[in-house]
Amino acid sequence: MPSQQEIRNNHRKKIGLTTLLSGLVTFSVFLTLTILLIASYQSKKQALYETTLTLNYDNASKMSQTLDSLFKSMRHSLQYAAGFLADSASMSPKELDRTLELLRSSSNYFNSVFVVDEQGIIKARTPNEAGATGRQVTTEAAKAALASKRPYLSNAYTSSIQSRLIVMMSEPMFDKDGKYLGIVGGTIFLQEDNILNMIFGSNNVNDASSSFYVTGADGRLLYHPDRTRLGENISANAAVKKLLLGESGQAQIVNLRGIRQLTGYSAVAENGWGVVVVTPIRAFQDQLIHHIQTLLLYTLPPFLLLLACAVWLARKLARPFADLAGLVSRIGREEQLLPDTKNHWNREADLLTKAVRIALTDIRQNTEQLTRDAMTDPLTGLTNRRTLESVMSKWTAEQVTFSIIVMDIDHFKKINDTYGHQAGDEILSQLATFITASVRPGDICCRYGGEEFVVLLALASPEVAYPVAERIRKTLETSENRLRERVTLSLGIAHYPSHSASPEELFQLADQALYKAKESGRNRTIMAETADTRQ
Ligand code: GH3
Ligand code: MG
Ligand code: MG
Repeated sequence: MPSQQEIRNNHRKKIGLTTLLSGLVTFSVFLTLTILLIASYQSKKQALYETTLTLNYDNASKMSQTLDSLFKSMRHSLQYAAGFLADSASMSPKELDRTLELLRSSSNYFNSVFVVDEQGIIKARTPNEAGATGRQVTTEAAKAALASKRPYLSNAYTSSIQSRLIVMMSEPMFDKDGKYLGIVGGTIFLQEDNILNMIFGSNNVNDASSSFYVTGADGRLLYHPDRTRLGENISANAAVKKLLLGESGQAQIVNLRGIRQLTGYSAVAENGWGVVVVTPIRAFQDQLIHHIQTLLLYTLPPFLLLLACAVWLARKLARPFADLAGLVSRIGREEQLLPDTKNHWNREADLLTKAVRIALTDIRQNTEQLTRDAMTDPLTGLTNRRTLESVMSKWTAEQVTFSIIVMDIDHFKKINDTYGHQAGDEILSQLATFITASVRPGDICCRYGGEEFVVLLALASPEVAYPVAERIRKTLETSENRLRERVTLSLGIAHYPSHSASPEELFQLADQALYKAKESGRNRTIMAETADTRQ
């Protein structure tokens, strides 16, 4: 059997219903809030990404169309110049320079314009830097353009004059008879102010965090907000790879520097270039954090209110069960209080409270009955020997003075033998009535066993006790009974503390006095001897 302490320790480890319900409610509310926040975060992120991807793609498409048109116009102006210059083969060098300058400054398409004859000699160049005129072309691009005898567009390369990073486009010139006369070409100085900067430089895509760049047909950067990167080959970039295949679209990629980006890319149909608009994903973090903060601002107060209500309700719901459990756990350990009679709004709590109330009332009544039974003598209704002993111990411990009268019916055996046990019982009951009638309410009347009775007279001196004993004796002696027989009684008296301070000895002294009463002729009361007379 586990001890009470073990049971209590064991219970301490278990979770209470109130804690359990409150915990469950709190957990549910926070879980819901977390799910809500995560779902909102995800959908917001998704929406932001999709919108940005679409926007970037739209911007890239528009720019690639612009580039396409621009390129066509540039090609067209070179074609026009080629035709014009072929027709005016006899033009003086000065006139040729003027014509080229006109071509360059009228459109601003090119940073420089030049004419190379079929031998590869630069016939004119505007601006005529570093005395370029009259020199042989040396760059691979110029040679290739001359050799191709076709419209030509170079990749980005470093020029021989001034070592610039340039892109060159050229048109072949033929005379009326179809004789090849050389090329007329224009260059874009990528690192200086040029037509690309002019058109796109002020272009703001979406927002400050987004940017764009233009790649050539070989994957080199032709336009980039960071000019130091111009000419860099980024053909390994996932978006550029697609452009090199002539594809357009949108994608989430990690660029060559390890930055995650949302890109929209569009190929320029005319020349194989491509435009890429990018937004680093990092740029959305602030927006998303702000979104979650706003969401929290709006959802947290109602959620906290909900939580408070739910916890309050949970506690209210658990309270009657917790109270009942506490009540039931105290059964047999301390004074039992019954549960409230008030009705509970919860059906189960109400039923259980009422059932426990009925059960506890029953237990209490049974216990009280058992206690009464254990304390009283069933025949006479007087207290029994056990009660007597406990009262004597209590009074002596508290030093309450009292007298004890021990009495025994004379020749009772004869009465039983003559009239039967039943008649004897009647005499016993009658005597009990006389005894009770002769004492005060606080006194203790006890059937000690058989036909022996004991009375404890609280705060009574021997002088008070003696007449009481005599009254009982005389009442019995003189009273009528069914047997028409005179029944007498012998009594012995002792006093606490004058005769003895010990309850056992006190009883013995009173019993000895009773014995003396019997010996000296019965039907009398004898006071115990005091200590002095005993010696
Ligand atoms: P004495 O006390 O005067 O010396 O004589 P006595 O006959 O009373 O002595 P004893 O104590 O020997 O006898 C007690 C008798 O009491 C024995 C028994 O028959 C009777 N008695 C004991 N208890 C009961 C009881 O509960 N009911 C009845 N009717 N008689 C009882
Ligand atoms: Mg006796
Ligand atoms: Mg007797």
